[in-house]
Amino acid sequence: LAERLQSTIKKITGKGKVSEQDVKEMTREIRLALLEADVNFKVVKDLIKRIKERAVGQEVMESLTPGQQVIKVVKEELTELMGGEQSKIAVSDRPPTVIMMVGLQGAGKTTTTGKLANLLRKKHNRSPLLVACDVYRPAAIKQLETLGGQLDMPVFSMGTEAKPVDIAKKAIEKAKEEHRDYVLIDTAGRLHVDTELMGELDEIKAAVKPDEIFLVVDAMTGQDAVNVAESFNDQLDVTGVVLTKLDGDTRGGAALSIRAVTGKAIKFAGMGEKLDQLEPFHPERMASRILGMGDVLTLIEKAQASVDEKQAKALEEKMRNASFTFDDFLEQMGQVKQMGPLDDLLAMIPGANKMKGLKNVQIDDKQLVHVEAIIKSMTKKERQDPSIMNASRKKRIAKGSGTSVSQVNRLLKQFDEMKKMMKQMTNMQKGKKGKGFKL
Ligand code: GDP
Ligand code: MG
Repeated sequence: LAERLQSTIKKITGKGKVSEQDVKEMTREIRLALLEADVNFKVVKDLIKRIKERAVGQEVMESLTPGQQVIKVVKEELTELMGGEQSKIAVSDRPPTVIMMVGLQGAGKTTTTGKLANLLRKKHNRSPLLVACDVYRPAAIKQLETLGGQLDMPVFSMGTEAKPVDIAKKAIEKAKEEHRDYVLIDTAGRLHVDTELMGELDEIKAAVKPDEIFLVVDAMTGQDAVNVAESFNDQLDVTGVVLTKLDGDTRGGAALSIRAVTGKAIKFAGMGEKLDQLEPFHPERMASRILGMGDVLTLIEKAQASVDEKQAKALEEKMRNASFTFDDFLEQMGQVKQMGPLDDLLAMIPGANKMKGLKNVQIDDKQLVHVEAIIKSMTKKERQDPSIMNASRKKRIAKGSGTSVSQVNRLLKQFDEMKKMMKQMTNMQKGKKGKGFKL
């Protein structure tokens, strides 16, 4: 996903302005990238529409860094799509609080049950009871018991003969007796959604009236995860989603669609097999991940840096030949004005922060207007070779630019100093290349 976007962004970043055509191209790439990342088609369509509206508007067009701005818009829309942060867990005012885990086989229900128990105790000082309602495989009960052992937490089970609904009911009685404040019910899954399973889950739900029903979904299953989430939610009206296996290299498109399709928030993210690897789900981080934000930003920075480097190289060349003129100066100023405040620009000059004297150089943006006027009043010859400047020339320039001779003099002096400074910087750069000193 990131790769696709990056090439588009690369194209866009170099530009001073983004045209409607650019945005069209960009959104087309984003659309393809999202579809490729398993994001639901309808979701993509709506998203692209909103991005287009925002990107073609003022917000991006007038920005100095349109590429970044487009990315920002996309990221905000993705975050919005996944909802705000929703990692709260219900607390019943008549304990125990009952949480039921549902989902397909292998999604991570049993593991997440253990993780959640761990989180409840560690973060909220609760004492949960784990309940084994997956009666179809003896190994499933054993698995939960093993987790309970690792956590040193009780696991309630009635073997493989009892009915899941009876186990759940008994477990709650037991939790009340033992003053346990949470009951976490681990249920059975199937390879596919089927009516028998849904019937069973529905029965448990009706009997124990859970405060939360967490749908556990495997992020690696992509578009399937969305379909599964939809059917489970239709049947059981879940209260939240836990997205597991986000530690893998899944593209995360499922995260986007699940929220949009079911209207249910993703509350937690499984980040590994270990019991402490359950985290609150952060929509913004997920959006960054989907966009490959880290990479994208680096790329933008690099593009920026390479432009500077090119300019610096040309400048360096001129300095070496002592051919830097007022024309170059004027051109530089034009670029400077486009790039924003001078202080920011100074910070971008390689090595500038290491030059002690530079800190004391105060640059006034308003002064630049005068400087520009003065240079524009010079003849071509004067711009190329300031050494021919004499009193009458200075007087003429001052008059032509609406400034004074002393202002002209100051600029000439500054220009001279600037040349010296640049020479100094070129030498510094050369020294760096030769010895390669550590920064
Ligand atoms: P269940 O059938 O829904 O109960 O799924 P399990 O809890 O038995 O998990 C199935 C497999 O997925 C196990 O091997 C787990 O260790 C693994 N698993 C569960 N959650 C995660 C996760 O967040 N990350 C990774 N990498 N593996 C997970
Ligand atoms: Mg299980």
